[in-house]
Amino acid sequence: MLRLYTHPACLQHDPGPGHAERPARLRAVLQALDQDRYAALDRVEAPLATREQLLRVHSAAHMERVLASAPATGHHRLDEDTLMSPGSVEAALRAAGANVAAVDAVMNGDCQRAFCAVRPPGHHATRDQAMGFCLFNNIAVAAAHALAVHGLKRVAIADFDVHHGNGTQAIFEREPRVLFVSSHQSPLYPDSGHEDERGSGNIVNGTLSPGAGSHEFRELWDIVLLPRLDAFRPQLVLVSAGFDAHRNDPLADIRLGHEDYAWITERLVTLARTHAGGRLVSTLEGGYDLAALAACASAHVGALMD
Ligand SMILES: [Zn+2]
Repeated sequence: MLRLYTHPACLQHDPGPGHAERPARLRAVLQALDQDRYAALDRVEAPLATREQLLRVHSAAHMERVLASAPATGHHRLDEDTLMSPGSVEAALRAAGANVAAVDAVMNGDCQRAFCAVRPPGHHATRDQAMGFCLFNNIAVAAAHALAVHGLKRVAIADFDVHHGNGTQAIFEREPRVLFVSSHQSPLYPDSGHEDERGSGNIVNGTLSPGAGSHEFRELWDIVLLPRLDAFRPQLVLVSAGFDAHRNDPLADIRLGHEDYAWITERLVTLARTHAGGRLVSTLEGGYDLAALAACASAHVGALMD
């Protein structure tokens, strides 16, 4: 059984006209999941994250700044490309809260897997800083919750967004209970994620050159990244699911198709079955071509349901 966490408030975060990370992204994903094929999804409203949950990975200064920065009208700019609108605080709290609730649900056996269709995305947000469209680091909040509340000793985060999850890496690079494994284009924003960045041995970065496609992506995961995940024997598999390595995506130069996302999802489901009693929580990160995002997210959710 696959549970889908989302909330209408996630549509109310609006970084403004012309911004790539727009409400229409989530609308496209939800519309794609509205077809008969997905009728069996167990749809649940995302709760709000609590301060306690956020403070496991963020400084109080960062949390309070985000909570206090939503403007009454218009936009407030946190960095060059990270903006807040009146609805941003609730959206960000629902996005992180979805991830926490999803971890609780798979740990308590209410479902085996969950997908969080939420925004803003999270993997660029560091302990102290919003950046790259991200306010709170949703997947990091999920991992920290799994460690603190469920007492897990091995939590894996697989990040296949085309950008490096610099925030997730920075938050956990000294935390051996978390293994962070990422494939991303290099060079590309945020210019981190080189293969020699290994944290305390718990960070694995795999880079793809501009123009790389399905073959290079699958080879990287099969030869480098999946074996590391397998050797770690995670008790829970978390996924930063960005779909911006699709060939039509305007922000990057990798040439994946939607079938590659079904492929990596099947691999991660198998990994979770082998080591984690099937427990897997995936959350939406990037993906900026609406048609490609809808097709890739559908392929991902379809593979999570099988
Ligand atoms: Zn991205």
